[in-house]
Amino acid sequence: MNHESPIPLEETLDPMDWEAMRALGHRMVDDVIDYLKTVRERPAWRHAPDEVKSHFTAPLPRDPTPPEEVYNEFLEYVLPYPVGNIHPRFWGWVFGTGTVFGAFAELLAATMNVGASGALAYHSASYVEKQVIDWFKEMLGFPTSTAGLLTSGCSASNMIGLGLACNMMAGYDFRREGVSAAQKKMIFYASQEIHSSVPKALELLGIGSSSLRLLPVNNQYQIDINALNAAIERDRQDGDQPICVIGAAGTTNTGAVDDLVALAEIAERKRLWFHVDGAFGAWAALAPKSRHLVAGIERADSLAFDLHKWMYMPYDIGCILVKSEEYLAKSFSVTPAYLEHGVGDRGLTGSDLPWFGTYGLQLSRGFRALKAWMSLKQHGANKYSRLIQQNIDQAHYLAQLVDSAAELELAAPVILNVVCFRFTAPDVEDRALNELNKQIEIELQERGVAVISGTSLGGNYVLHLAHCNHRTSLRDFDELIRHVIRIGKDLAEPASA
Ligand SMILES: *Cc1c(COP(=O)(O)O)cnc(C)c1O
Repeated sequence: MNHESPIPLEETLDPMDWEAMRALGHRMVDDVIDYLKTVRERPAWRHAPDEVKSHFTAPLPRDPTPPEEVYNEFLEYVLPYPVGNIHPRFWGWVFGTGTVFGAFAELLAATMNVGASGALAYHSASYVEKQVIDWFKEMLGFPTSTAGLLTSGCSASNMIGLGLACNMMAGYDFRREGVSAAQKKMIFYASQEIHSSVPKALELLGIGSSSLRLLPVNNQYQIDINALNAAIERDRQDGDQPICVIGAAGTTNTGAVDDLVALAEIAERKRLWFHVDGAFGAWAALAPKSRHLVAGIERADSLAFDLHKWMYMPYDIGCILVKSEEYLAKSFSVTPAYLEHGVGDRGLTGSDLPWFGTYGLQLSRGFRALKAWMSLKQHGANKYSRLIQQNIDQAHYLAQLVDSAAELELAAPVILNVVCFRFTAPDVEDRALNELNKQIEIELQERGVAVISGTSLGGNYVLHLAHCNHRTSLRDFDELIRHVIRIGKDLAEPASA
């Protein structure tokens, strides 16, 4: 043995030069503030040039790159080409806008890196999660006996809610025996406007999307209550097993809110699980002038919703509220030896709180609760009430602009924060108008003016905005309408010639 050889250097991922890392960190924070402060001065969206796209085919880096260089690469190739949803004139699909303090909370959560509420329960993150869930319950009008869990988003929350419905309503040990032991086909009910994450959840649960009855809607795009009652009765007569009614509080297409009181009553009378997808619309409960629209939401057995859309928190954070903690425990809890709870409240495994990590799909989970806790404290619940109401009022202002422009027409009633409309021109057929409106949507994006999306309503292609943007002011909608009309007229000229 050669005793002269040096002791090999032990590896760590901590910085070799802490002071250089501190300086870089300070620079990053300065850049973040500048970037967010000046967001309005940049285009709402822009193309990534080919040169940028091909940057991401570079080979696996085998050797270190100085952090400053990595950061510069981020500044050059990543930061300038986002989806654009933090911009004041981004209203496409249903996107949230985030906040500065929320971004800082993410940094703090990553710093603690607690793997929140996983196997170990007795730490501050559990208390923070418990508290924000309690606050959501209060804000949404749920009784204090309600349980809850933070999730990655409403898709995960819908899956958890529908999984609970199966476990609680199947009438046999569904958890153990699975769907193959079902004597009767299990049936779920929702309107045809329900979000795609609902059939997807049923597919993943092994129930299959053919178990979802997609019922017609009235002229407000709400589920047709008579059709729902009839479908449940027909299925029972046919020997199927109705399991769950799924209500929509804010549909993606039009922002419609089902009659949740009526749905709660049907579910109660017919002994079905009542799940509500309130991804963004649940938060109408905060808006003084609109909260009556979501009355009945507090009667849900399970409510799925997001914080990263209408509550403006940085991605990702969603939540599910469930009528009783016992349902969550019955449905999800598994306690292998290595996850045994402690004795009393001593040690890291002792806890007087739920083990959130044993409730949903995720065992190890990021500390999502922190950004919710810090954001709610920073702004206060009243501020969110005013902002949600402001977004609804702004959406109605936009609807008025559309209504008073001869070239535009509303395509659906404006209920919450969603506006659907289209450009029209005399003597141009629907087919040509569909193409024209698609082109308007693309032109707005390509010119960086604004980002809106499109959807199909009544067989027509229409322009679609879902407004969850705390940075928008009324003049942004004035500008949008000016551009839509100008682009529409330019494009319609040759079309009608
Ligand atoms: C966005 C959305 C979902 C899915 O939520 P994610 O957070 O994207 O997983 C479900 N339902 C509705 C109505 C939505 O708008």
